[in-house]
Amino acid sequence: MKRITIARGDGIGPEIMDAVLDIIKSTGVNLQFDEIEIGEKAYLAGHSSGISPEAWSTIRKNKVFLKAPITTPQGGGYKSLNVTARKALNLFANVRPCRSYHPYISTKHPKLDIVVIRENEEDLYAGIEHQQTPEVVQCLKLISRPGCEKIIRYAFEYAKLHNRRKVSCFTKDNIMKQTDGLFHRVFDEIAQEYPEIDHEHMIIDIATAKLADTPENFDLIVVPNLYGDIISDVVAQITGSVGLAGSANIGTECAMFEAIHGSAPDISGKGIANPSGLLNGTVMMLNHIGETQAATLIQNAWLKTLEDGFHTADIFNQDKSAVKVNTKEFANAVKANLGHKPKTLQIAESLQSGSFKMPKYQRRSQPQKDLMGIDIFVDWAGLNPNELAERLQTMETKETRLSMITNRGIKVWPNGFEETFCTDHWRCRFESVEERPISKQEIITLLQNAESQNIDTIKTENLYAFDGKKAFSLGQGQ
Ligand code: NAD
Repeated sequence: MKRITIARGDGIGPEIMDAVLDIIKSTGVNLQFDEIEIGEKAYLAGHSSGISPEAWSTIRKNKVFLKAPITTPQGGGYKSLNVTARKALNLFANVRPCRSYHPYISTKHPKLDIVVIRENEEDLYAGIEHQQTPEVVQCLKLISRPGCEKIIRYAFEYAKLHNRRKVSCFTKDNIMKQTDGLFHRVFDEIAQEYPEIDHEHMIIDIATAKLADTPENFDLIVVPNLYGDIISDVVAQITGSVGLAGSANIGTECAMFEAIHGSAPDISGKGIANPSGLLNGTVMMLNHIGETQAATLIQNAWLKTLEDGFHTADIFNQDKSAVKVNTKEFANAVKANLGHKPKTLQIAESLQSGSFKMPKYQRRSQPQKDLMGIDIFVDWAGLNPNELAERLQTMETKETRLSMITNRGIKVWPNGFEETFCTDHWRCRFESVEERPISKQEIITLLQNAESQNIDTIKTENLYAFDGKKAFSLGQGQ
């Protein structure tokens, strides 16, 4: 018998989990549930990630985790359990299918049928943040080639398995040429391996606008972490309610299934939440573990319930709904419909068990890597960049020259504009003389010189060329 780890979570979590368990048990599927405590109670018990070591062991033993939403306390050094679980368990792919259920659920987009596949471990969600000066904080955006290859190949394999005709990739690589540029480049490379599937790349801002306007033009979307988080909420909401969509977090060993929405504290305890998001997450879980018959049984009963007009408050519409039901009544209606099929909405067919083999990452041959200089970040409360440049030039070594100072990325020396507003956070670029590679000793000397000049260095970033190509951004205006 397959054992599943479950967590009731916070807010509306326990209400929707009870409804979902009730429905699963009514299908007769042979599963054993091991419950763990996560979320607010675990945070308050002193576990800064919202989960105890014992709960981790249960998740890792069972490998399949059905999780209700949890509340992440704001501030106070708490880390999001959702983000921690996805990364610690290597759940690299976040799959969020969203569909319209026209004419039964009100939507401006009756033909919407989109799967968002979101990279789940990298990007700004690496959670590496620092305060560097009294005025400036930073968050590191990390994107790796293995991370890109894994998620993009997963997206194309998913498209192949589920007969999706087109894969769209959204990034902001016109601005972030290194990080989003890598994601886009890998997308173009991997798309060549799937000539039978159309592919396109769009800049995320116009892509999101078009997605909200004409979602029927999109099919499967693959995106870096933050963009995926945002657009999947947009897509879910325009189907009719954010409470409808389920979400699968897939890794090579473990998988976690949930609703895409949060713990909805505004309606918690009222018994009126829509359990459909978690139920759709459960359908994905049943397909994942090969219980495809139970998955199809639930899916069709759920579609029939929507058709019958048994709607929770979030999707209730005077003209389209028959009766406004609470969470429990909705679950009872789904249970009563087990074995029935929808009449108008597309009937769910039993999926072939939804897995495919992902190739192991192959590290490429190592490129030639040359140190070409360094960006030294300086905390300085002065205002005139020329004054700072004069001090910095006294730090120069035999092999390095100060080539540029930027403030929040914009070049302010040499030849900056008087209008540019400057904070106390300065990036000071020292580059090798005549573009000759330098040794790390030059950097040590530069930093020693800074120290003896009383210049407050707060961080450094080495400037590299890979195979002779400079691999760092220019200053804006450079
Ligand atoms: P939310 O998704 O909880 O709620 C947004 C809005 O949608 C609210 O008006 C809510 O009432 C409504 N809503 C959400 N789910 C619904 C449902 N099933 N039925 C009916 N209405 C529903 O987003 P939020 O308010 O920004 O976040 C609340 C908490 O949830 C925060 O602590 C956040 O960190 C957490 N959160 C957790 C997860 C997760 O566990 N996966 C995801 C997102 C947010």
